[in-house]
Parts: sequence; C-alpha cells; structure tokens
Amino acid sequence: MSLTEPSNVRVRYAPSPTGYPHVGNIRTAMFNWLFARHYGGRFVLRIEDTDVARTVPGALEAILESLRWLNLDWDEGPEVGGGYGPYVQSQRLPLYHEAAERLVREGHAYYCFCSPERLEQMRAEQTKRKEPPRYDRLCRCLTTDQASDKATSGVIPVVRFKTPLEGLTTFTDLIRGEVTFDNATLDDFVLLKSDGYPTYHMASIVDDHSMLISHVMRAEEWLSSTPRHVLLYRALGWEPPQFAHLPMILGPDRSKLSKRHGATSLIEYREAGFLPETMVNFLALLGWSLDDKTELLSREEIVKSFTLEHISKTPAIFNREKLEWMNGVYIRSLKVEDLTNRIIPFLERDLPPGVPRPLSRDYVLKIAPLIQERARTLAEAAQLSDFFFVVEPHYDPALLLSKNTGPDDIANALHITLERLRTIESFDTARLEPMLRSLAAELGMKTGVLFGALRTATTGRTAAPPLFQTMEALGKDRCLRRIEAAIDLLGRLERAK
Ligand code: GLU
Repeated sequence: MSLTEPSNVRVRYAPSPTGYPHVGNIRTAMFNWLFARHYGGRFVLRIEDTDVARTVPGALEAILESLRWLNLDWDEGPEVGGGYGPYVQSQRLPLYHEAAERLVREGHAYYCFCSPERLEQMRAEQTKRKEPPRYDRLCRCLTTDQASDKATSGVIPVVRFKTPLEGLTTFTDLIRGEVTFDNATLDDFVLLKSDGYPTYHMASIVDDHSMLISHVMRAEEWLSSTPRHVLLYRALGWEPPQFAHLPMILGPDRSKLSKRHGATSLIEYREAGFLPETMVNFLALLGWSLDDKTELLSREEIVKSFTLEHISKTPAIFNREKLEWMNGVYIRSLKVEDLTNRIIPFLERDLPPGVPRPLSRDYVLKIAPLIQERARTLAEAAQLSDFFFVVEPHYDPALLLSKNTGPDDIANALHITLERLRTIESFDTARLEPMLRSLAAELGMKTGVLFGALRTATTGRTAAPPLFQTMEALGKDRCLRRIEAAIDLLGRLERAK
C-alpha cells in the first residue's frame, strides 16, 4: 500500500489490559495516532484481553483514561464502535477458531495433545542440556486417526502452527529495513489455547487482517514475533500489513526504562503535575524528531511533520530533567486563568489539612502568577505557595534577623512599618514598593535588611516570590497580622537572650 493514498492508512493501538499503561505503551499509541492524523487515516483502538490470567481489573479504564488525558482520540474502538468491531478480542473468539481450524484443515497447523506435565518435563530436560526450551513437535506427526482417537479420549488440545523446519523468513520493516529470521529458530507456537482463547499471535493477525490495518507500528520488543506473523499471513493467503518497529526507550543509564528511573505509568505523570501538552511534546521526541534540534513543538506541528523517515533506529533516552524543564516552559506559557484552573486540584490535594476547602478561585488567581515562574510541575504549587493559605506560617524567628542587626532593631523597624502600612488605602505593589523603599532610607536601614525581615514575617521563608506582589496577594489584613506576630516573636527572642 502506498503512503500517497492517505485515506487507506488504518493503524491500531492494541494494548493488553494487564497493567497500567506506562510511558512506552503510550508512546506507541501516540505514534500511531500521529501517523493516522498526519495522513488523514483512521486510528483504531483494540483491546487484546486474551490472556485471562494476566488481566488486571481497572487496567482497561486506565488505558482509556491515559489516552483521553493526552487527547489521543480513537476513530474506532471501545465506546465509539466502528465498522470492524467488536474491538475487544474476548468478543471475537469465533473468528480465531475459524482461522485456526482452516489452518489445520489446510495442513498449516495441528492439534497438540501434550499435557502441561509433559511439556514441563520436556522443558526441564532441555534446560538441563542447555538447549533453548521449545516444543519437540511430538504431535506434529500424528496421523488424522491418531489425532481423533486422542480427541475422543477427552483431552482438550491446543492448536499449534506448523512452522517451516528450514528456510528464511524475510520482511521489510519501514524503520529497520530488511529483517531476516531463520525458520529453524522458531517454535511450533500455539495458536489456540486449551481454554479456547487464541494466543497473541493468532488474534493479532486475524484482527489486523479483518480490521484492514495498513501499518503495524509497535515497540521493538515485538520484532521477533513478526516472522511468525508473516508465516501466518502466508499460510492464510492474506497480504500482511507494513511493519514499523519503534525504538526502545532507555533510562539515562542506558538500561531499559523501569521503575528505577522514576514513575513509568503515564497516569503517575499526571498526578505529579505534568501537563498533557508537555507529555505529548516529550513523548513525540522519544524516537522521533523534526530536525534533531527543535525541542518545543505543539501537537499541531508534530502532526504536520510526523512521518516515519524521522523515526530513529537507535534507542531513545528518557531524560526526566528534560521533561521537568519542558513542563516549566509549558507552565510559563499558560494564561493565568488556565494555570489557576489547573493548580486548584493540586493545591486542594496537597495543602495542609487545616486549610479550608474549597479554595477561593479569586485568591488562587492572585497567587498563580507569583509561582508561575518557578513551578516545574503543578504539584510543586502547594509547596511553593502554602504560606498564602495557612493561618500563620511557622518559622525560626532567627530568620527575621540580618547580620549586625539585632532583634530590637528589627522589631522597631517592623513596628514603624506596621504603622505605615495601616494608613495606606490601596495595598498594592505600585503603592507598597515606593513606600517601603523610602521607609528603609528613613530608618537608615539597608533595603535588604528591612525587606528580608518583611519577607520572613509575611511568608515564613527567606526565599519566596517577589515581596511586594506577595504582600499584595496576601492582602492587608494577613500582612498586618503576620508582622504583628513577627514583632511578638522578636520580643521573645530578645527576652530569651
Ligand atoms: N497486545 C500487545 C501489547 O500489549 C500488542 C502488540 C502489538 O502491537 O502487536 O503490546
């Protein structure tokens, strides 16, 4: 199929609900989505739930939620339907049976009656002989009569593929070029299990064929399954789709990305305060690039330029620091209203329990611009701004002091500041800044000393957002109360001397 026939592009994301999707899974989903959108094709979501024992409750919901969070909308699949459904493999069992039976009928597959105990023993012996564990093909040679005898004895067989014993299987991978496997290294793999479910190989090719999938784009770990799939397509007389295996994702130490490198489930990144815009941009660059230097790209720009030529063969490195940097850039680019709406749920989750909920949106609206410059994640909002919300910040009173300025001097300066602040009408930066600067001069005090004491008094910290804006956002009443409390603390400090 040629890529110049855009409407023919039909790609799929085919997750198994065996766990919460990690960044690698969602990178695969996203590359398929981008490819479909770039060529005006269809993005199909298919749920591969044939491994009943490994199915995890809640995993399907987590898959849908991850896709929704990144706005990777599917054209066909669960919830939306489509002309090639059902899109859940456990609802398609007759199709797999039909294909498996046809393969048996036409001599490409056979029933295997070997018991799990026999297979177990066989594997143990092979391991002992340092041979790769594989089926010894005992049932491959059963005659039809022998097979029906066994069938009547009540043993439920599996169906195995009659893999050619010699020769090579070659296919073209759109990213890696020509790939060849020696058939002798492939097993007589199972197509239908004794529980009536198909294996991944059987279900995958029946569905890719019947759903008219044009391109199979998936992680590199599936490359070794592809020769089996190619042989199956051939045996069934079907045209295989095009294959593209995406590069692995490694941690900065170049080992396979895992928990050791931080969160791997996509939803954990949402909980950690990453924006979906950041994730789309960041995941796109895990294996694809526009020109090897552009880091910041909007979803639209990525869709516009997303072609397979720009996918690399070499593994992608997942760099958490880059992700945080990128998220900071996206946070800074948000309109204040937008940022406010996004941080409220994080603040409500993370602020100390004593802070009354729901928070006032108007108040958060004043605080959001003050933390916008510094937050790299939405989850940092609470820690950067908790002093705005607590009744009184707790701090070491020594932080109110500066070198060579004792508690009395600071208390005195704060006292005079308090009197002045009481008199001002509009408690805003434009008024506060000149007033406090001239007050420092009047008191013969370095601005750093006075402002430092005021910062600690109003925020409980020595490093906080710009002082005057912070005071404005806190409002007159809170500031006055906190300065009074600071004077009190200084009095105690003086007495304790
Ligand atoms: N169900 C497989 C998975 O969980 C799909 C592999 C494929 O895309 O063929 O990744």
